[in-house]
This record gives sequence, structure tokens and C-alpha cells, in this order.
Amino acid sequence: MTTTLSLLTPSGRLTLGNLLGALRPMSRRQEDAYYGLSDLHAMTTTHDPDLLRSRTFEMATLLLAVGLDRATLFRQSRVPAHAELAYLLECTAYTGELNRMVQFKEKGRGVAATRVSLYTYPVLMAADILLYRPAVVPVGDDQRQHVELTRDLAVRFNRAYGEVFTVPEITTPSAGARVMDLADPTRKMSKSADAAGSIFLLDPPDVVRRKVSRAVTDSETGPSAVRPDRESKPGVTNLLEILAACGGSATGITTYGALKKAVTEAVVAELEPVQKRYGDLAADPAYVTEVYAAGAARCREVTAPVLAAAQSAIGLG
Ligand code: ATP
Ligand code: MG
Repeated sequence: MTTTLSLLTPSGRLTLGNLLGALRPMSRRQEDAYYGLSDLHAMTTTHDPDLLRSRTFEMATLLLAVGLDRATLFRQSRVPAHAELAYLLECTAYTGELNRMVQFKEKGRGVAATRVSLYTYPVLMAADILLYRPAVVPVGDDQRQHVELTRDLAVRFNRAYGEVFTVPEITTPSAGARVMDLADPTRKMSKSADAAGSIFLLDPPDVVRRKVSRAVTDSETGPSAVRPDRESKPGVTNLLEILAACGGSATGITTYGALKKAVTEAVVAELEPVQKRYGDLAADPAYVTEVYAAGAARCREVTAPVLAAAQSAIGLG
């Protein structure tokens, strides 16, 4: 069994896209799995402390509500080894390679008020990964460059100071569900995007109904209008995929109105048990806190030898 690691940033509220594309696959792999809330990564741009707190708690509770209770759940900030190893890796990384990171170039380079943490974010991410020694890291296109940096840093550190880190292989995740934004079906649904096109896991049924009813489709009419065609009918294709992923069927559906009704019903049915469990868990916040405290304790235990080995090799031990 190989170690699985996944971090979610509390930069917004979890969406149906996160559920189908990430949480559902995560729930199928919980043995030797470390699932964290990367709260430190949520502070690389202007943030509001109260909002960060409430989003972190909501996300922590939702991970339990979708059934991730057999994995080790933790908050990154409660495992100080992440920040400690990140500093050692900052003493390994070059500004030249961080300057080449596409996300930094797009989001912050050249802007005076860009936080240093946005610049060093890929180094913290390298620490997040290397601490748990996963053999493979499945990674989507947007994070591939950062994981390549992780490998480069691990190799460089090992060469300079001794074999401390396991250099992870990069794999492309099996093409899972990719849910698109309802208001703009050419871009993906995202937790930090505009609320109109994203279905949040805690949206009540009437909000789901309203968002789906306003989902962008196209002007085709006729008996064959309801069919998948990602190129020319991205909105309809997205609705069909959501319907299928939520266990519904489009058999016999010929109008967009009927399709939207079926999608609404399927999504509401998918979210209902999650929202029910969320309600029960949120009523007992001490339990949620306890689960994450126990998870963080376990993370501190498994990461301590890696941090200690790195400290010793680099000259601190
Ligand atoms: P942000 O806007 O902050 O980037 P996000 O919704 O894109 O938020 P991430 O934190 O980037 O979420 O990703 C968390 C996980 O959810 C990743 O595994 C990612 O692949 C998955 N994911 C995110 N959006 C979708 C989507 N629309 N469809 C399927 N999977 C998604
Ligand atoms: Mg994203």
C-alpha cells in the first residue's frame, strides 16, 4: 500500500466539482491516506482571518460529512514540520526557478503588494509532499510544474547533503469527472469563482434549482438537442455529465427544461445526505476539532523522522 496525500486549500467553499472530481475519488482511497486542509496556502493573497477560520471549519466538517473519516485528516498549520521543512527547502531552491513558476508569473510577479508567500508557495508545497514520502503524486496540469520543482529540490538536497527524501514519481490522474461552471461552461467550476456558476455542497435545494435553471445551454431545439458535444454544446454536455455522475439518467429527455429538472433532482439527492451529516457534525464542533487534532498528532509523528533527517543532514542536528 502506498501513501496517498492530498491537500485542499480553504480558499472558498467546496463545490460539486470538488466533490465529484476530488472528494469522491479520495473516499475510495483512505488506507494510509493523509488528507489535509492547507490553511497556510490560503494566506498567499489578501485574506480575512474570520473568513479563513469559518471556511476552514466548514471544509473540515464537510470532509467528515462526505465520509473521509478513515483517512488521517489534519490542518497543515497544526503540523509545524510543514513550515519548518519549507524553510530548509528555501535554502535549497533558487530564485531563478521560482521566477519561472507560471502561476506566480500570472498572479503576482511585478505587483508591488504581492505577498512573499505567493512567491514561495511552491516550496511550501514541496515540503507538504516530501514530508510524507509518497512514491507517486497524481497531479493535474495546473500543479505539474510545482511537483516537478518538488522533485528537483529533493534531488538537489539529496545530492548535496545525503539521501533524505524519496523523490516522488508524477502521474496523471485517471481522467475523473471535470465539472464545468454553469454560467460559463468553457471554464471549470471552482470554489473561488463567482457563485452563480458554482454549486456549493451546502447550497439548499432551492438554490441548486435556481442555479441549474439559469445554467447556460444553447439555442438548438428539436428532438436531438439533448446530446453531448463538448465543442459545440459545452453547457448541455456539462449538464449531462453532472446528471450521470449523480446517478441520474437522460433516457427519454428531449428538452432542456426536462434536462434541468432531472439534473436538479439528481444533484439535490446527491447533496442531501451530505448536508444532513454536515448538520449533525456542525452541532458538535468539539468532535470535529478532536478528529483533526488526532490527525495532526499522527502527522507530527510520521513526519518527525523526515524533518529530523533533513535538519541533521543540512547541518542543524
Ligand atoms: P480554486 O478556485 O481555489 O483553485 P478549486 O475548486 O479549483 O478552487 P482546488 O483547491 O484547485 O479547487 O482543487 C481541489 C481538488 O478539486 C483538486 O483535486 C481538483 O482537481 C478538484 N477540482 C476542482 N475543481 C474541479 C472541477 N470543476 N471538476 C472536477 N474536479 C475539480
Ligand atoms: Mg483550482
